[in-house]
Amino acid sequence: MSDCLFCKIIAGQIPGNLVHQDETMIAFKDINPQAPLHVLIVPRRHIPTLNDLSVEDDALVGSMFRRAAAIAREHGYDERGYRTVFNTNPEAGQTVFHIHLHLLAGRGLEWPPG
Ligand code: 5GP
Ligand code: ZN
Repeated sequence: MSDCLFCKIIAGQIPGNLVHQDETMIAFKDINPQAPLHVLIVPRRHIPTLNDLSVEDDALVGSMFRRAAAIAREHGYDERGYRTVFNTNPEAGQTVFHIHLHLLAGRGLEWPPG
């Protein structure tokens, strides 16, 4: 996907502040952080929204959540708490149409979200 921002970060065409990478996903700091720790966990494969997932992606999505938990733990937030969010389509605020799991931690997070 030549016009996808996150595909360009995955390809190394745009710099990303990486905190993790493996064969199926990368994780990098959000450029506009909404909490002291704000990381995006992104599959290497271009998947536009959660609506495009199939049963073959179950392991991928599970490993994205486990990676979020690992990154939260590495930063000392596993007991304090953290939030993991997928935004899907415009009304939920999705702006980059390549799925990404937000990991937010380091401050009190309100519920319900805005
Ligand atoms: P969404 O709104 O689609 O759920 O989340 C997209 C996220 O990508 C936003 O939190 C936004 O700050 C982040 N973002 C947009 N452009 C860039 C960029 O060039 N680099 C990084 N690291 N994050 C970006
Ligand atoms: Zn993409």
